[in-house]
Amino acid sequence: MTKWLYDEAMYRFDSPEPSYWEATQGDRTLSSVPLSTEESCDVAIIGGGYTGLSAAYHLCKDHQLDVRVLEAGHIGWGASGRNGGFCSVGGDAIGGEKMIRKFGLENTRDYYRAQVAAIELVRDIIVAEDIDAQRQGNSEVAIACSARGFQHLKAHAEFQFRVLGLDTAVVTPDEFRERFFDSPIQHGAVTLRPTFGLHPLRYVRGLAAAAEKRGATVHCRSEVIEWKSEGGTHFLRTRDGLVRARNVVLATNGFAPEHLNRQIAAKTMPMISSIVVTRPLAADELAEQCWQTESPSITALNLLNYFRILPDQRLMFGGRGSANGSAQSAAKNYAKLIARMHELFPAWRDVDIDYRWHGLVCMTRRLTPAIGRLEDDPSVFFAFGYHGNGVNTATWAGKQIADWLGTAANGLNTAPEWLPSVVHGMPRDFPFARFRLQYIQGVINMLRLIDRLS
Ligand SMILES: Cc1cc2nc3c(=O)[nH]c(=O)nc-3n(C[C@H](O)[C@H](O)[C@H](O)COP(=O)(O)OP(=O)(O)OC[C@H]3O[C@@H](n4cnc5c(N)ncnc54)[C@H](O)[C@@H]3O)c2cc1C
Repeated sequence: MTKWLYDEAMYRFDSPEPSYWEATQGDRTLSSVPLSTEESCDVAIIGGGYTGLSAAYHLCKDHQLDVRVLEAGHIGWGASGRNGGFCSVGGDAIGGEKMIRKFGLENTRDYYRAQVAAIELVRDIIVAEDIDAQRQGNSEVAIACSARGFQHLKAHAEFQFRVLGLDTAVVTPDEFRERFFDSPIQHGAVTLRPTFGLHPLRYVRGLAAAAEKRGATVHCRSEVIEWKSEGGTHFLRTRDGLVRARNVVLATNGFAPEHLNRQIAAKTMPMISSIVVTRPLAADELAEQCWQTESPSITALNLLNYFRILPDQRLMFGGRGSANGSAQSAAKNYAKLIARMHELFPAWRDVDIDYRWHGLVCMTRRLTPAIGRLEDDPSVFFAFGYHGNGVNTATWAGKQIADWLGTAANGLNTAPEWLPSVVHGMPRDFPFARFRLQYIQGVINMLRLIDRLS
């Protein structure tokens, strides 16, 4: 099996993405240094994003375990430091109706209740740990891109409200123009609360500082290059050090190395998502699109775009990424993303783009997140597959792992009853896992066609 699924350019752990978030990350200092010695601990966590750091934070705070986090890049190098900052309901790609058919009504309701609780968990951590995460807005705005799309969206919002208990509200096209912004593509919208935008890198660095404050040791620039297990102990080797641990939490999501744990690699479908950010927009430029919202917005399509105005009045605009992550294919993809941005906001056609970057999200074959422990080695816990919605879901998943591992240390071996069955356990392998990139391109082409016809 090859080492990486995408072009190697996607895995340069020693260089940060040239993102707006990196340029505005604030001055919070972390004590993390690369691992350079041989150490032992209760729990070693591979991956220093929301999943790994939330697990570390809760393991130390609530279960008093000795924890080390090993992150290949700097803290937040992965998706957690470069996402769109939507803290919103999601995490799956199956949708409420199909989820009910597959998992039943009560399990589906449990999942959505957990999704809302996960947003509140992020809010609570930000407040409790005094993280300067620049929260913005109070709902997610899903925009219909055709009259027929609006009918579907309204019916779906009614279903979400009535059956799933979500706080949705319909906005007619005229109301939309008055309350949010104007765009030739909008045909009305639906809002969903609670949702807010945040600065993803400040949030993940704040989470790391909070974990350190509670006693976790966080190692940046410490890629795990070898993982062996013997006699109930795991041995994780980095370039300059070694950690021995009774338990391992695998928290690498879309950046899961293909070689480190083959069982998990075949169950992940990493996909590239891309973002561009404009220069700051002046008040008269914002007025040209009647802009008056800080709430995060999406187009209600299968291949959706996500966007919001940042605190310094720049437009952040995201969407599907390139096919293989090479510099050449990324450049073509940014050009398409910018052209799409101009379709939505023609008044900003000549506005400069100051930042462009991309990263990996992760899907599963089950189309729901995966949280659990390995069947053949229950000392290994995992959480991945948030389908591009990990700000709340990964933070929450890290806490579920911490609570499970914390009680497992006291003898509990089955899945905790509070964990929604929708996310529990390992999904099946993607068939012919070596050909996942070809498979995902096929799926993307099909979704593009469905979007055109809708
Ligand atoms: C462009 C983009 C936009 C997105 N927008 C949103 C959004 O608006 N809202 C939302 O909710 N979600 C969004 N997401 C998804 C979200 O960012 C992820 O779901 C979430 O960050 C996953 O967190 P994580 O900790 O599981 O993984 P990551 O943050 O990806 O962390 C995994 C870490 O594992 C490390 N790693 C890998 N291999 C090793 C190794 N061998 N040794 C040590 N460390 C290793 C990597 O360096 C990486 O830092 C977006 C993602 C992208 C890429």
